[in-house]
Amino acid sequence: MKQIQTAVYAFVAIASGSVMLMAEPDIIVRTNVPYGNAANVRVQENGPVTEVRFTPNPHGGPECLWFCFQVCRSGARRAALGKQRLILECPETMLGGGQPGHFRPVFRPTKGNWERTGAPELIELPDGRRQAAWTFDMEKPSLDFAFSFPYGREDVERLVKQSGGYWRVDTIGVSQGGRPLWRLSNDYSRPKGNRAGVYLMARQHSAEVSGSWVLDGVLRRFAELGDAAPLAWAVPLANSDGIEQGDYGKDNFPYDLNRAWGKPPMRHEVLVFQQDIRRWAARCRPVAGFDFHAPGASETQGIYSFVSEARPEVSQEAKQWAVLMGEQLGAEFAAANFVRVAKYPSRWETPRFSTFFHEEMKVPSVTFEVPYAIVHKTVMNREQYQEAGRRIADAIVKQIKSLSTK
Ligand SMILES: [Zn+2]
Repeated sequence: MKQIQTAVYAFVAIASGSVMLMAEPDIIVRTNVPYGNAANVRVQENGPVTEVRFTPNPHGGPECLWFCFQVCRSGARRAALGKQRLILECPETMLGGGQPGHFRPVFRPTKGNWERTGAPELIELPDGRRQAAWTFDMEKPSLDFAFSFPYGREDVERLVKQSGGYWRVDTIGVSQGGRPLWRLSNDYSRPKGNRAGVYLMARQHSAEVSGSWVLDGVLRRFAELGDAAPLAWAVPLANSDGIEQGDYGKDNFPYDLNRAWGKPPMRHEVLVFQQDIRRWAARCRPVAGFDFHAPGASETQGIYSFVSEARPEVSQEAKQWAVLMGEQLGAEFAAANFVRVAKYPSRWETPRFSTFFHEEMKVPSVTFEVPYAIVHKTVMNREQYQEAGRRIADAIVKQIKSLSTK
């Protein structure tokens, strides 16, 4: 047990998102970076170490989770940062944050390549609060830090570019805040076509980035398979506003996106998606919908799935799909208890993506929950998430084949 001595320090908080230490060594923390999020930031010197303390900002949600910020030298001084100690305060206020020893955030020299941190040093305060700390000694003048590998518009653009023209990108509408909503497709040329079709989505909860890396792998695999893949339409960045603003975006107000799927829908984004799903269904033989998420912050038991119980005959079929997905993911990635029914207490008992698929499309839907950092004993990198996605893509193709021979 260790308590940090409170030193005298001075800082100013700037509403646009940075907190500046007024004395030497002029280190600042910026949250006005892509997907930026941090609250109650304090920078102070403690001997040769600069300590940066922060708490993830709930941005209006009941729990917090996501953080993303830059630590750098202000002004013209481009000296190396030196020894930094990043201290995450109040992890118990994060969704599923009860075991911060499982956190493995990511860091990079600004514009460099993201890497995982090691296990944190855990600090327990006398009143029972906990903290998690990581120490860095960087030669660089600027360091970025995030809860897990960020995934946004530039990653979608890279996927599209690297897929050599396989994916078309269209804007199907805008978000509540007026940002374009992108949908990727590999085929929409044939109205009333009979090609088996799947619809995929990620980031209804805006910070669930690990789900995005798995969807990225699914879409890359479909591009490799070419015509052997199903007709696929995908919305990779569903809660576009939340993503850009650095929101965690689960259960947040005014309305959790994945609880807004009633008719009529309770969010503009869902209105846009429902229209698009109806267009998709008119251009293929719909077989399934897939939605990619991330579970609580400390989860390490492997990737798992949720199947909706809406419309029992469709729910049965969805369970069969999910069983096959779990087999294809294998013990390396899948949780032992892979197929689950969403029965956890929810603040919002209103319809979800899966409910809409079962009730209106009358085809099965599977929701994936992809841990942010650790899967069993593996600290996941981006390629491993993409590999899990490739296996899901292969499972989809396999299941479509088996259905067509029945
Ligand atoms: Zn989610």
